[in-house]
Order: sequence, then structure tokens, then C-alpha cells
Amino acid sequence: MSESRDLVVVGAGPAGMAAAATALDGGLRVVLVDSGAAPGGQFWRHPALFARETLPTADLHHGLSTYRALCSTLSAHERTGRLTLLLNHHVWTTARDEDGFAVHAMDRGRAPEEEAVVLRAPALLVATGAYDRQLPFPGWDLPGVLTAGGLQSLLKGGGVVPGRRVVLGGTGPFLLPVAAALAARGAKVVAVCEAAAPSAWLRHPAALLRNPAKWAEGARYAGTLARHRVPVRTRTAIVGAEGEGRVAVVRTAALDTDGRPLPGTERRIEADTVGVGWGFVPQLDLLLPLGCGLGDAGDGTMAAAVDDGQRTTVPGLYAAGETCGVGGAALAVSEGRVAAVSVLTDLCAPGRPGTRRPAAERRAVARHRAFARAMAQAHPLPPAWPAWLTDDTPVCRCEEVTAGAVRSARADHSAADHRQVKQLTRAGMGWCQGRMCGPAVHCLVARGEPYAPAERLIATPVTLGALADSGESTSDHT
Ligand SMILES: Cc1cc2nc3c(=O)[nH]c(=O)nc-3n(C[C@H](O)[C@H](O)[C@H](O)COP(=O)(O)OP(=O)(O)OC[C@H]3O[C@@H](n4cnc5c(N)ncnc54)[C@H](O)[C@@H]3O)c2cc1C
Repeated sequence: MSESRDLVVVGAGPAGMAAAATALDGGLRVVLVDSGAAPGGQFWRHPALFARETLPTADLHHGLSTYRALCSTLSAHERTGRLTLLLNHHVWTTARDEDGFAVHAMDRGRAPEEEAVVLRAPALLVATGAYDRQLPFPGWDLPGVLTAGGLQSLLKGGGVVPGRRVVLGGTGPFLLPVAAALAARGAKVVAVCEAAAPSAWLRHPAALLRNPAKWAEGARYAGTLARHRVPVRTRTAIVGAEGEGRVAVVRTAALDTDGRPLPGTERRIEADTVGVGWGFVPQLDLLLPLGCGLGDAGDGTMAAAVDDGQRTTVPGLYAAGETCGVGGAALAVSEGRVAAVSVLTDLCAPGRPGTRRPAAERRAVARHRAFARAMAQAHPLPPAWPAWLTDDTPVCRCEEVTAGAVRSARADHSAADHRQVKQLTRAGMGWCQGRMCGPAVHCLVARGEPYAPAERLIATPVTLGALADSGESTSDHT
């Protein structure tokens, strides 16, 4: 491909799809790149094309009419050649370039082969979403213990029901669709352990009143859970998992207001699968190397700092969706549209009447963001969660670093954040590069400060051969 492109969008989830569609409608030439095999991101994850007929998952989705409309807009622009959709392309780093940005990706469409690809454009929009936040507990490294998002991905992406007796735990409304989907697919959801108290929502009446669609969604999940007799235990957490070779028993306990297990409330529940989710952490890997400023997302994490047009602190760089803080797919779609309108404005694109509704979209962003802030306050991490850990509980599973080692890095060496703990113990140095343990390690040593992942120049493992090729026979998409 030799013709010039105006905008590279990384991430074809709700935010990236909406951004690309709006930018294309406004007259821009766009490259939309995603590591997945189909557009949709986490929210609209589908089985691979060849398996869709045998694995229908429509009943697990919401907002499919928006998804279908976005897909059809993107396909129409792909046919005219204005959209280049690069699936199975994993972006491993981003850099400034004299005319804008260089986006380095690996084409993994013919795995195990990899081909290095460089995408260049004056504007870059990063919509790479978020990943599950985990808090360790004794036994969380047993086979059968998964993240709540992982369970949902298996269901939506592969039609896989990963167990027969499932216990879910953590905090936040996301536990409900996962429980409902599992129950609808025939798993016995033995308990949903929600650490927060639902009454916390009553402190945010405005956010609730302004977002009736969220209530309706919650009511639908509650109906499904009631039909399948799934008990939801509030102020309760999973504090341990046991089993020989894989999980067989889950230990739960009622929590005091700080999140400390109340003596005498522990229960042992037989289960073959556990799903745990403590909210999400914005995926900032591609923004940090560009010097993008961060802001406190209000839920214990840092997110891309953006203005009301989704412009980051770096000229020409935009962010949308959960890279800017976790708030759900509807927010991601609105932010994607707002970001694209900013790109159109900043590049002085001609645009077309009817494609720009910035005021309405900005109001939608403000409404959804207010809901997200209320959600973060109603579902905080329990401050006393480290009380569940024994000294030999693994915190970093890749490098087998225990809670005891992290605590002594703090007590004996005054480690004050996850970067210092990494230097002292190797926690966060393994295959997942701290995605699993980073937030927890940070909480253990730097209580109160929001978590920002360390800057990494390489966002995904790449082979040395592909790296060497990237200097020579690289396909250059400018
Ligand atoms: C595992 C998981 C499952 C979830 N399931 C649900 C659900 O069922 N219901 C719900 O309400 N919310 C769910 N969420 C929350 C959900 O992420 C959002 O509400 C919504 O999908 C956010 O949209 P987004 O466009 O910001 O990001 P996403 O939907 O996460 O899209 C980001 C896209 O960027 C791509 N990407 C990321 N990094 C790179 C890279 N380096 N190179 C190339 N591509 C990249 C990803 O493949 C993905 O397609 C889930 C979150 C996770 C982490």
C-alpha cells in the first residue's frame, strides 16, 4: 500500500470502530489495526468467522445493532479503499516520526510466521481498551482459577463453558453479565461474591437517574440470575482456593467495612472453576512511549489524560475508550466518535454534513463518565485486602514472587512502588510483564497512590527474527 493515510486507529473495539467509522464518514483515509481476528474488541467478541454458525453467541451480546451498523459502515469504506483493516496485527510499539507517528506491528495472520509492518500517519488514535485487575489470594495460581474477563472471552469468543460449578468473586457490575452468561450456558454458578455493599450506589442518585439504560441492563441480569437461582452474596470475598492439581474448594468470607474477613464467617464451597475480577486496568502500553500524560481515573488506576475532544497531551495523538478510564462500551463508542471529530477538525478535513454531532456525543461522554465515577466509588478495592494473603501466597505468578518477598522489599528496602519492587524481587518481569501482578504489588507497597504501569518499549513479545526484519524487509504502510 503506497497511498497516504490520515489516521491510524489501534484497537477495533467499540471505541476504535466508532472512531474509524466517524473519521471515514468525514472524508479521512484510515488504517484500523487490531491484534484480534475480527473487529469487536472485548465487548463484541465473537467466535472466528468459520465457527459462527455452529457457535451462536448473539444471546450473550448487547448493542448488536450498533455493532452491525459499525461493521457495515467499515465494510463500505473498505470496498472504496479508504479503509485498510489490518486484523491479526499486534502493535508492539509506537514512535514519533517527523510527519506524525510510526506504528510498528507484527502481522500474525499466517502464524507461526510473523511479518513486521510499519504504519505511518499524521494522526494516531489509541483505543486499546483495558485488562482485568487481579488481587491475589492463597490458591489463585491453581488451574481452574481464571479472570472474570477471561471466562467471558471463552464464552463469547469460543462458546466454551469452562466449568460445571463456578464461583465468581471480586467487585463491580461486570460480575453480573459473566454470571448470567455462564448460567445461560448451563454452568451451575454456585455463588457470586461481591465485595461491595449495593447501598453504596445510593450515594450517587444523580448518576443513577441520568443513566436509566444501566438500570435496565442490571435488572435483566438480576432476572437471569434469579431464574437460575444464582445467589449473589454482597460484602463477601473469595479469600482462598484449594485443590490437588486444580481448584476443588473455594473459601469465601464476609467482610467488615474495611474488607477484612469477619471471624467465623468463612465458608467452603465445592467448585471446579473460579472467576475473579476487581475491575479493569487501562491498557497504556502504546501511549506511554509517546510521552502521553496520565490522570487519576478515580478507581485506583491511571488513565490517558484527554481534553473534552479526546486529545491527549501529545499533539496529533488521541485516545478513546477504556484507555481513558473504565466505563463500558457505550462510553467507548461515544468517546471514539468525539475523538474522530477532533481529528477531522485538527486535520481540517472537509467532512460531510450529518457525520458530526459533537455536542450530543460530548454530553453522552459526560453522562457515562459520571456513571463510571460513581461505579468506581461504589465498588472500591477493599482497603484491607492484603489481610487475605499469607507470606507464601504468590503475588507475581510468572516469577514466583511471594507476598512475603514484596512485603520485605517494602519493610527492609523502603520500596515505594511496583517499579522498585520489580528491581528488588523480579515481580513483574515475567511473561505477562506485570499485567497480572502490577496493580496488586503496587497496592501492597504504595497504598493510596493510583497505579500506572511501567513504560515498556515492547508491548507484546516479538521474535528476534521479526525484530531484525523490521529494519530491512518491513512492509511499509504509509
Ligand atoms: C477480557 C475482557 C472481557 C470483557 N467483556 C465484557 C463484556 O462481556 N461486557 C461488558 O460490558 N464489558 C466487557 N469488558 C469491558 C470492556 O472492555 C468494555 O466495556 C469495552 O469493550 C471497551 O471498549 P474499548 O473499545 O475501549 O476496548 P476493547 O473492547 O478492549 O477493544 C480494544 C481492542 O484493542 C485491541 N488491542 C489492544 N492492544 C493492542 C495492540 N497492542 N495491538 C493491536 N491491537 C490491540 C484489542 O485486541 C481489542 O480488540 C471486558 C473487558 C475485558 C478486559
